[in-house]
Amino acid sequence: MADASKRARRAVYPGSFDPPTLGHLDVIERAARLFDELIVAVAVNADKKPLFSLQERVEMLRECCAHLPNVRVIQLEGLLARFAQQMGACAIVRGLRAVSDFEYEFQMASMNRQLAPEVDTCFLMTHQHYAFLSSSIVKEVARLGGDVSALVPANVEKRLRQKFAPPSAGERTEGENHPSTGDM
Ligand code: ADP
Repeated sequence: MADASKRARRAVYPGSFDPPTLGHLDVIERAARLFDELIVAVAVNADKKPLFSLQERVEMLRECCAHLPNVRVIQLEGLLARFAQQMGACAIVRGLRAVSDFEYEFQMASMNRQLAPEVDTCFLMTHQHYAFLSSSIVKEVARLGGDVSALVPANVEKRLRQKFAPPSAGERTEGENHPSTGDM
């Protein structure tokens, strides 16, 4: 009993973070207040083709979390439930925006409970400012040259600008000299 109460309460917050947004950062800051230690786990995510490499996503998050001494950012390898167990975590943190998030999250939480019954999934409801914010929408707006400064931390905005900067004349190859058009 005494031992259990002394043990640091550690949680894992997994995601793709491609790129991190202010919605993610809000969840990180709130979870860092709830737990003794928070591990932000950046997934490789073989299914999605990320805009930012794993290393870039880890770096961006480390920069965003530099003011939070109890937050560590590491890459997530393998199965989340096993990773959480290996880290000695008591909880997996996920953010919930709209009802549309619920079904997938419920499925994932149920599976993780089967795989690691001692690790509970803890949902933090999004701040209302960020309820409609997602990494995909940020990428789409940035790709089309829109202002994303109210949606992502400053370091992420800078990296997005670099990613989508029009190629200089020397870098352009034939057929690529028009900025991409999108459906927004
Ligand atoms: P994944 O591919 O694992 O869903 P994401 O980076 O898209 O990775 O999201 C990681 C977690 O952050 C998820 O739990 C997601 O619901 C949550 N999240 C994403 N955007 C927001 C937001 N604007 N507000 C709160 N939580 C969010």
